Amino acid sequence: MSILVVGSVALDTVETPFGRAEDALGGSATYFTAAASFFTRVQVVGVVGTDFPRGGIEFLESRNADLAGLTHRPGKSFRWSGAYSFDLNSRETLDTQLGVFSDFEAHIPEAFRDAEWVFLGNIDPTLQLDVLNQVRRPRFVACDTMNFWIEGKRDELLALLGRVDMILLNDSEARELSGDHNLFRAAKWIQARGPRFVVIKKGEHGAILFSPSSVFFAPGYPLEEVFDPTGAGDSFAGGLMGSLAMSGSLEEADLRRAVVYGSAMGSFAVERFSIQRFENLQIQEIMDRIHQFRDMMVFELPLPVNLNV
Ligand code: AMP
Repeated sequence: MSILVVGSVALDTVETPFGRAEDALGGSATYFTAAASFFTRVQVVGVVGTDFPRGGIEFLESRNADLAGLTHRPGKSFRWSGAYSFDLNSRETLDTQLGVFSDFEAHIPEAFRDAEWVFLGNIDPTLQLDVLNQVRRPRFVACDTMNFWIEGKRDELLALLGRVDMILLNDSEARELSGDHNLFRAAKWIQARGPRFVVIKKGEHGAILFSPSSVFFAPGYPLEEVFDPTGAGDSFAGGLMGSLAMSGSLEEADLRRAVVYGSAMGSFAVERFSIQRFENLQIQEIMDRIHQFRDMMVFELPLPVNLNV
């Protein structure tokens, strides 16, 4: 029940009101692996350049990731830089340098082609499709994307939508993709183009799971200190996919629990810069947080009397 992920393995330069990190380990596949590896083994597909630090590889190795699909190429690694506003809810991308990703053609190792659980992390939709085409009979495919690709590769992204079971995206991306400001209509618009399940993430305000006939809402974990929101979405996806793969089920109850695991893993990501919080994260801390979610979400059924008229 390992999970195959393709996505960016990157060097991020991030500015927040609390500080700045330069060329820190980042990327969608990196954060996804950091989170999902607490649940199951992760098979990573991606590419890094000659400038990629040994420490980045060592981190992925320390999470027991299978790096047979991580190619090393001459050239520069993917680089992204962004700056966050004071409330940390919005960010501006300052620069995106695709580097070795710009002409990367993935050749999925034979051992990865039987993957049942596939996560197409945020990267060029052409590459996401290319990877998907090499997987024989996936049981569940989820994808992520970003405004960069919604604007630059819309047709490829729409083609991808027809091939996935779930898409995860944040509220502004859902609005941009659908052209509708209303998130509930936006989710329906997206579902009509393929994915049965749409997860719309709303940063600190939680996430909404749209299934074919129900809607589920998980809150964000009420953290008192948020340091760097980068990677929250990918860590969310790692928790969600890890939980689903571990349960081996796509029942509504399992999907809902997976969204809560996603929200928990996303909340750890933002407590430190880069992937630092995952370096010493303990399983007991994850379990404690899941129980706190449960406590936050329980409430009594309606009043046992009729409401006054
Ligand atoms: P998140 O905060 O979860 O949306 O993900 C942030 C991560 O996505 C950063 O570590 C970046 O390296 C990576 N990233 C940013 N822009 C892109 C892009 N256009 N394609 C792929 N990865 C990206």
